[in-house]
Amino acid sequence: MTASAGYGHAGPRGPTRARRLARIAWRLLLLATVAFVALWAWRHSVLERPRLLWELSRMPAPQAQPVPVDGVRASQIAATFGAPRGSDRRHEGVDIFAPRGTAVRSTTRGVVVAVRDRGLGGRQVWVLGPAGERHYYAHLEAWSPGLAVGDVVQPGTPLGTVGDSGNARGTPPHLHYGIYGADGALDPLPRLRAAP
Ligand SMILES: [Zn+2]
Repeated sequence: MTASAGYGHAGPRGPTRARRLARIAWRLLLLATVAFVALWAWRHSVLERPRLLWELSRMPAPQAQPVPVDGVRASQIAATFGAPRGSDRRHEGVDIFAPRGTAVRSTTRGVVVAVRDRGLGGRQVWVLGPAGERHYYAHLEAWSPGLAVGDVVQPGTPLGTVGDSGNARGTPPHLHYGIYGADGALDPLPRLRAAP
């Protein structure tokens, strides 16, 4: 009776403390689970694009990039950036001549943000690359099979093939390659010539 009463007094404190500990344990477990799931998602494809976009925005602009057309050396590319085009335009890139159908490859890591047939550039691909720069690949004969907006690319990933689409129709097939930074078009040639 006495023991029972004593136990009765001690009782409320014991289970309360145990309940509090249990609650803390559950919270820690929940926190660990959330952290684990977040880490998993960060590392896996669910968040691959947002993560890459974040990383790309923080990466510096590349100082050297490979020539985006197979079999062409940077020394073979004419320095025509800024040259007048008609009465009101300037050449916002370089023209890289190669036989029709030659592979065109991304010069950077990035995310494909447009695959379309439009205007002067004709069949074109836009890649969002390091430092928020946009890379423009135009006058393509064809796109790489299956290439789509949202694709993650690396330097060397095929984007399409050299052609004469858009306003290049009827001229020698070439890739028009442009880079657009925060301040507009910039000359790709120094970067192509800096690559080993
Ligand atoms: Zn051009």
